[in-house]
Amino acid sequence: MTGETSGTTVTFVVIDGWTVTVASVGDSRCILDTQGGVVSLLTVDHRLEENVEERERVTASGGEVGRLNVFGGNGVGPLRCWPGGLCLSRSIGDTDVGEFIVPIPHVKQVKLSSAGGRLIIASDGIWDALPSDIAAQSCRGLPAELAAKLVVKEALRSRGLKDDTTCLVVDIIPYDHPVLPPTPRKKQNLFSSLIFGKRSQNSGKGSNKLSAVGVVEELFEEGSAMLAERLGKDFPLDSNSGLFRCAICQVDQPPNEGLSVNSGPFFSPASKPWEGPFLCATCRRKKDAMEGKKASIPAVTA
Ligand SMILES: [Zn+2]
Repeated sequence: MTGETSGTTVTFVVIDGWTVTVASVGDSRCILDTQGGVVSLLTVDHRLEENVEERERVTASGGEVGRLNVFGGNGVGPLRCWPGGLCLSRSIGDTDVGEFIVPIPHVKQVKLSSAGGRLIIASDGIWDALPSDIAAQSCRGLPAELAAKLVVKEALRSRGLKDDTTCLVVDIIPYDHPVLPPTPRKKQNLFSSLIFGKRSQNSGKGSNKLSAVGVVEELFEEGSAMLAERLGKDFPLDSNSGLFRCAICQVDQPPNEGLSVNSGPFFSPASKPWEGPFLCATCRRKKDAMEGKKASIPAVTA
């Protein structure tokens, strides 16, 4: 029965030349391993246990955060959100949780150097077993398909099959270097490269050369669940038609059909003035619900 009401995490990756854009909801993770040996995280784990901001958001929106209560009041397991008991603060498709479990993604966009890089995208069963840098190191030098298999194998070896362990490896490779340079995979060499990586992080000298190889330029990052912060205060009005476009569903409609900072008379007295862009009535209601401002009376009828 739980299968019918439970949802999923999403990790959505768009690769356009050297530009990588990742939108993620939940606790699947995408990491980037550059040829300089620098491993960076392109997602954020939306786990209540590990994410203070998300705990605060859920609590402020009317959700309760706590552990499973089984042994006479002693909480066990990770922090969960009630109702529903989900340990994630964001997901898609969970129908038995409150509206404060939102599907709003963390989005990050980076630009790789022309040396390229490797993306490792995997579900929580992998990341519970392997730290990001260990996952990256364990498969360096292997072709992508083998690398993905090895990461899964490593995760199962260290933790057994306890959760979904799905792994996808994508190599972004320059045209003139169609194959990733082989990295020695003998244990001894792996160890020495670990030490080298650590040393170069701490000392300024030498690290310039290292980071120049795999330099990653951060272009964009936005992780807020609050739509006013996400969408800014732009107020797109199609001057030809006189219609406003809902910033969420992108449907055009006359101003009095929706709500905006300029539509004072249409505000529900119960809710705070919305200082973001124009939203249609439906999207506005959804937004209010997600942010814990669900009115008992419908805010507006158009
Ligand atoms: Zn809308």
